[in-house]
Amino acid sequence: MRKTVLELNGVTFTYPGAEQPVLRDVSLQLKQGDFTAVIGSNGSGKSTLCKCFNGLIPHYYTGDFSGEVIVSGQSAEGRTVAELSRTMGYVYQDFENQLVRPTVIDDVSFTPLNYGFADYKERGERALELTGLSEVRDEFVWQLSGGQKHLLALAGSLAMDPEVLVIDEPVAQLDPQHAREIYEILRRLNVEHGKTIVVIEHHAEFIADYCQNVILMDNGSIRWQKPVREALSSVSELLELGIYPPDVTRAAWMLNPNPLSVQEQYPMN
Ligand code: ADP
Repeated sequence: MRKTVLELNGVTFTYPGAEQPVLRDVSLQLKQGDFTAVIGSNGSGKSTLCKCFNGLIPHYYTGDFSGEVIVSGQSAEGRTVAELSRTMGYVYQDFENQLVRPTVIDDVSFTPLNYGFADYKERGERALELTGLSEVRDEFVWQLSGGQKHLLALAGSLAMDPEVLVIDEPVAQLDPQHAREIYEILRRLNVEHGKTIVVIEHHAEFIADYCQNVILMDNGSIRWQKPVREALSSVSELLELGIYPPDVTRAAWMLNPNPLSVQEQYPMN
């Protein structure tokens, strides 16, 4: 039996001053080695959900929180974001704010240095290796491309050797080739290094090619959690929610060897 690395039980959360909860009675479990995509229309609560994983909610966003978060078998209650980040690595949507030092090697080593790890440099070097950034270790962060900066933010999380990596839109501003390179790195981290991976992702072709499970957020609740094939064959449901029809349609095509009904209903352009 694979270990449960993250569990949410009945999590409900309302941002300060908001009238309605943004998360409503959310329960889920992630097993070690899962590669999960969180999908849903804008504002459905995907980022807010992920902010519960490493304690940002309720520690930094002090709204109205109830329910339970269990990280690696222990309740997150009373544990700081710093402590939880050893288990839950997080790359935020605005990842550039996570880059805090002028050079690549100093930046990637900064978090373990800050947490008092004597081997902070080795941790940094290892994280650069895992993300293919060793060659640029001595460059200034501002010299990197957007994709490399995103990888550096990922490397910064990896330097803490977390069990779980949560990445909010890993390929948001990248062309398809660079996007695929990032997903290949995530796949290696998942398959060869046993990392549990959660991505917030809109691109169905990457979900189809790399993820095993899909969680659909709908107005603050989990509408369903399904294996990827089943999830992407719910084409009409995804379309109803306005989730990127052409990609979803293409992915459904790739997964469905007999896609006549899909073809008739949603012809590819
Ligand atoms: P998604 O990631 O699915 O787009 P979010 O979790 O970012 O959704 O947002 C869900 C809802 O919570 C939205 O209505 C958004 O405006 C609101 N929200 C997000 N962050 C904050 C915040 N810091 N303060 C108040 N409301 C917020």
